[in-house]
Amino acid sequence: MAEAPDVIAGDVPLAPLTSIRVGGPADAMATCTSFRAVTGALAWARDRGAPVAVLGRGSNLIVDDAGFRGMVVRLAGRLASISVRGDRTLWCGGGASLPRAVQRAAAAGLAGLEFGASIPGTVGGAVAMNAGAYSSDLSQVLEWAVVCDAGGRRRVGRDDLAMGYRTTSVPGDQVVAAAGFALAPGDPAVIRGRLADLRSHRRSTQPQGVRTFGSVFTNPAGDSAGRLIEAAGLKGHVIGQARISPVHANFIEAGPGATAADVVALMDEARRRVREAGGPVLHAEVRYLHPVRGIGAPPLAEIA
Ligand SMILES: Cc1cc2nc3c(=O)[nH]c(=O)nc-3n(C[C@H](O)[C@H](O)[C@H](O)COP(=O)(O)OP(=O)(O)OC[C@H]3O[C@@H](n4cnc5c(N)ncnc54)[C@H](O)[C@@H]3O)c2cc1C
Repeated sequence: MAEAPDVIAGDVPLAPLTSIRVGGPADAMATCTSFRAVTGALAWARDRGAPVAVLGRGSNLIVDDAGFRGMVVRLAGRLASISVRGDRTLWCGGGASLPRAVQRAAAAGLAGLEFGASIPGTVGGAVAMNAGAYSSDLSQVLEWAVVCDAGGRRRVGRDDLAMGYRTTSVPGDQVVAAAGFALAPGDPAVIRGRLADLRSHRRSTQPQGVRTFGSVFTNPAGDSAGRLIEAAGLKGHVIGQARISPVHANFIEAGPGATAADVVALMDEARRRVREAGGPVLHAEVRYLHPVRGIGAPPLAEIA
């Protein structure tokens, strides 16, 4: 039997650890500061038959209203740190903030990660999701990642991760504990200028100061989910305490007292109405934490 992880807490509310802030508590949470602690925590959960969920900043996650009957793993300390290695490699713990990693790269005169400035996740979450924006994504700059499971850790190259449009082959019960990005030398002032432009573009096109999890659906080939949902007449549509954003229809905004059920009902409504209007079946980009199955796709209604 594996030993109990270093820092473990019980009955932890998860809503405050996500950007949309809905959902119930987890039975247990391990906060890991070393590769060894991560594998130890995963082995501890495996030995008890407890499901595992890896949580970054919860910026792309809906937690079920009933919470999670397993162990959540989070990264901290050295596994949330950022450093420049050699001439052009940015070393990041999986729990490091992606926007902070972008800032660190800019300060060091390293270019290529700017698209991540307004993606409010962790590096591990961003690698697992192959996060991206403005026609770039992490697959273009990731060199390697350290992935932990209950049996140990392994260093993998970008090509081992099958990185596609907001997908990778990282299984839900494995942890991206560190990542290395190969960046290009650049003028810090020019990089900062590019960051300012990208941030200002975001501010003018996406809802600000509200609870969201970024894009709800992936964009179908040749179209945009936001355009399709808007064309179906759903901008501003309300269910319970959540609504389709009046600013950008591929965002859901949660009001005070919103539930995961409200958010999922809005997603169902958007998919149904887009399909009825002759559009494609939309696929969720956001992930869902189920009480016993762990992280997977949201529980959406079947649609033909
Ligand atoms: C305002 C806003 C704007 C956004 N804009 C963008 C955007 O432009 N582009 C974009 O791609 N996304 C965007 N997002 C979504 C989100 O920020 C990204 O998907 C981000 O990569 C998620 O990282 P996270 O740490 O918050 O992951 P979480 O939400 O905590 O988890 C998401 C998934 O990643 C897994 N995961 C998290 N950490 C790890 C780890 N260390 N190892 C293995 N798996 C892990 C989780 O298990 C889960 O399956 C936006 C979100 C918000 C709120």
